[in-house]
Amino acid sequence: MDLEVAFFDLDDTLYDKKSGLWEAIRQRMSLYMHERLGMSWEIIPSLRRHYFETYGTTLRGLQLHHQVDPEDYLAFVHDLPIHEFIQPDPELRHLILSMPLRRFVFTNADRNHAQRVLQRLNLTDCFEGIIDIRAVRFYCKPEPQAYQIALDIAQVQNPQRCIYFDDTLANLITARKIGFFTVLVGQEDLEGKVDLWVEQLKELPQKLPALWDNHRGSNGRTEDFAG
Ligand SMILES: [Mg+2]
Repeated sequence: MDLEVAFFDLDDTLYDKKSGLWEAIRQRMSLYMHERLGMSWEIIPSLRRHYFETYGTTLRGLQLHHQVDPEDYLAFVHDLPIHEFIQPDPELRHLILSMPLRRFVFTNADRNHAQRVLQRLNLTDCFEGIIDIRAVRFYCKPEPQAYQIALDIAQVQNPQRCIYFDDTLANLITARKIGFFTVLVGQEDLEGKVDLWVEQLKELPQKLPALWDNHRGSNGRTEDFAG
């Protein structure tokens, strides 16, 4: 593999979806629509599904159809006691640090939430940067523009030199079309739509050992993943 850069989704990718954090964020999205926009509880689930499937995020739909202020929305939906949901995992930290690639978080959430999550997981220094919803100018995954901006920010010309981890299949399908090597996290790829799937990132040394052979011998900095 001739890879240069790794992009990681944040929520439900860098921590286990069983933590319930992302579900709690989703509940606050619904609460926002009820409290701030006066929508009835009955219409909210189907409207959120529609926005998610059509635009990639609930926020994008709310911006386009309800002129929602993204700052107000993002502050509201992420206002949660993160430490009660997720904990640091030293093994995951070691794994990520051992990858011989430049690494970025690439998330449809905002930087403030990403920083809080990374801090709680003790992963802040594992990444060169956070590419958040503002950085991609409120395009969002899976809109192709978001990936192009992410490539520009990472200053990588060729998407084929990038690997991308995400728990959302739709985000990976677009990335794969663009040329990224795609890894689905947390669920089986039943339809063969991505390059690889793992239940957890920690399976990577077994499922994709070539990632650690990447650059081996060229810069002498490759660390072996010894578990
Ligand atoms: Mg996610």
